[in-house]
Amino acid sequence: MNEKLSRRSFFTKTLVASAGGSTLLPTLVSGKKPNLSKVDSFQLPSLPYAADALEPAVSEEIMQIHHGKHHAGYVRKLNDALEDAGMPGGDLGAILSELSDVPADVQTRVRQNGGGALNHALFWDVMSPSGGGQPDGALAKAISMEWGSFNAFQETFSQLAGGVFGSGWAWLSVDTGGRLFISKTANQDNPLMRTYVEKAGLPILGLDVWEHAYYLQYANRRGDYIKNWWRVVDWRNVGQRYAAARQGRMIVDPLKS
Ligand code: MN
Repeated sequence: MNEKLSRRSFFTKTLVASAGGSTLLPTLVSGKKPNLSKVDSFQLPSLPYAADALEPAVSEEIMQIHHGKHHAGYVRKLNDALEDAGMPGGDLGAILSELSDVPADVQTRVRQNGGGALNHALFWDVMSPSGGGQPDGALAKAISMEWGSFNAFQETFSQLAGGVFGSGWAWLSVDTGGRLFISKTANQDNPLMRTYVEKAGLPILGLDVWEHAYYLQYANRRGDYIKNWWRVVDWRNVGQRYAAARQGRMIVDPLKS
């Protein structure tokens, strides 16, 4: 991790502080290209459940392709971009929050594929076959404070997700003041990318509304996908992310503790 990157700001520092324990942590690989120095590379995290575990909300076929092809592709292309730039891997959240520090010739590739790598790691982790229902504790209180009720929050979030034009994501995040907000991003952008988003924050819940996330099962019925997705949201996990984000930390670790 380069010092300039890690010391740039409070926002970044708080992310760097969370680096421990992530399965997106870099592992040292011996490059196949002998003239290049070794770089840290990111690894595709395993799904935290079987590919068919989220049925009927999300089909096994979608999970296999989404994780094994799409997510794997983002991780591979991110590593290629970092290697081309001679950049170390380090903390992916910190890299994405300071994209202006990434060399210009690979910045778009890191934005797109680094976003894809991190977003999907979070996405798998905030879903569970035992998900659904509502949050409790501090997260439930905070949602009620911002939106009046859980149902009102859910409705607002669903409308936002349904209204994403083309490919993108809907997010629930914690801002720098510790307050919840919802937002949408295009492509593989996320709320960490403060250079590119209207409002930056630490994402604690994300919904992938790219067609690759639902089309094989739902065709053009994105609204049905969103409705069924709520049944697999792991509020316990999101609650843990909320607690960490309130302390300025982001949990990238896609595996259950
Ligand atoms: Mn996706």
